[in-house]
Parts: sequence; structure tokens; C-alpha cells
Amino acid sequence: MTSRDKLTTYRGKRHFGRTREPEGRQAPSGDAPCFVVQIHDASTLHFDFRLEVDGVLKSWSVPKGPSADPQDKRLAVPTEDHPLEYRDFEGVIAAGEYGAGTVIVWDEGSYRPLPGKKGPSRTFSEALERGHASFWLDGSKLHGGYALTRFRGGSGERESWLLVKEGDECAGRRGTPDARRARSVRSGRTLKRVSQEEAGEQGSG
Ligand code: MN
Repeated sequence: MTSRDKLTTYRGKRHFGRTREPEGRQAPSGDAPCFVVQIHDASTLHFDFRLEVDGVLKSWSVPKGPSADPQDKRLAVPTEDHPLEYRDFEGVIAAGEYGAGTVIVWDEGSYRPLPGKKGPSRTFSEALERGHASFWLDGSKLHGGYALTRFRGGSGERESWLLVKEGDECAGRRGTPDARRARSVRSGRTLKRVSQEEAGEQGSG
């Protein structure tokens, strides 16, 4: 599948005349693959964890967000592939639109796949398809090894995964900060600040 085809579900859910979210036209940069973690104050407040794989952002909704503590097993529910440009999206998705609510970029950086226990021959995307992949994050907030493991679903059933910190020198006891108080790694803004600023823009324009 090309990355354009992979975005059919993403595009089908959105009206690009009514949301500032990207349509997805950008080609991959060729640099180290990126990751981004956004906080999304939609019908339920959650974190969106996204990894660049084969030209799109593979995405999971993580209700509690990633933790630096290897004992925390964080539920991660797959969502549709997002375009690479989505890593830049911070703002408000209008009421009535899919995912309506405020988004901030909480963390971002690059990652590298870690060799799986079943040998290095498997590509990262094959590892994900088979339901287990580990990777090293170099972000501003998140550092070190993490693993994503599918524990339920496949073949039509809704999938559930776990996002877990690996036990390495970057592990710690600190969980995830309160999503309402957390600040954007891009702008330093909280969710509340972003929504207030966008409301102000609309009021004056
Ligand atoms: Mn979301």
C-alpha cells in the first residue's frame, strides 16, 4: 500500500474545509523516523502516541499516556494511520467534526527500532503487524526503550495493545504528568491556553 492509500480512513473521517488538520501530502523526509505524542481533549481526554512507519504515522490512543515506570502497563488502542504532517498539529478541532477538541504536541523526537528477540531479519513494520515491537525514543520528555504489544484482537475484533517502558537506564518512577497541566513541547502552552487563544482568534477575526 502507498502512504496515500493508507490515509483513506483518516481522510474519510474529516472535512478539510472545516478542520485545520492536515490532509497529508508530504513525502517522508528520509531522516531518522519520528515519533510524536499529542494530548487530545476530545470526548475523553487521552494521549495519542504516533510512530513514523513507511510514510505514515502509526497511531494509538493511550488514555493514561506513556509512563517512564516499567511496572505501568498502559492501554493503547490503535487508531487510523495519520499523515506525517500531523506531528505539527496543535490547535482546536471544531465542534461537530471528528475528534472535536483541543490538541497539543506534548513530546516529539526520533526513534530507532530495537532488535526483537526473534532476530533482526524482521522489519519494524513486520514486527508491528505481528503484534510486538520495541524501540528507543529520543524525545524531549520521553527517553529510552519502550515496547508496544498486542494482547487482544486482530481479525476484525477491535485490537488492544499495551505500551510499556523497558527496564533500562532511562526508566524511572515518575509516571505521566497530569494531562491538563502538561505543556506543549512546541509552544509551552497548556490545553486550556490553546483553546482560549483559538477562541480569541475567532472572536477578533
Ligand atoms: Mn485523539
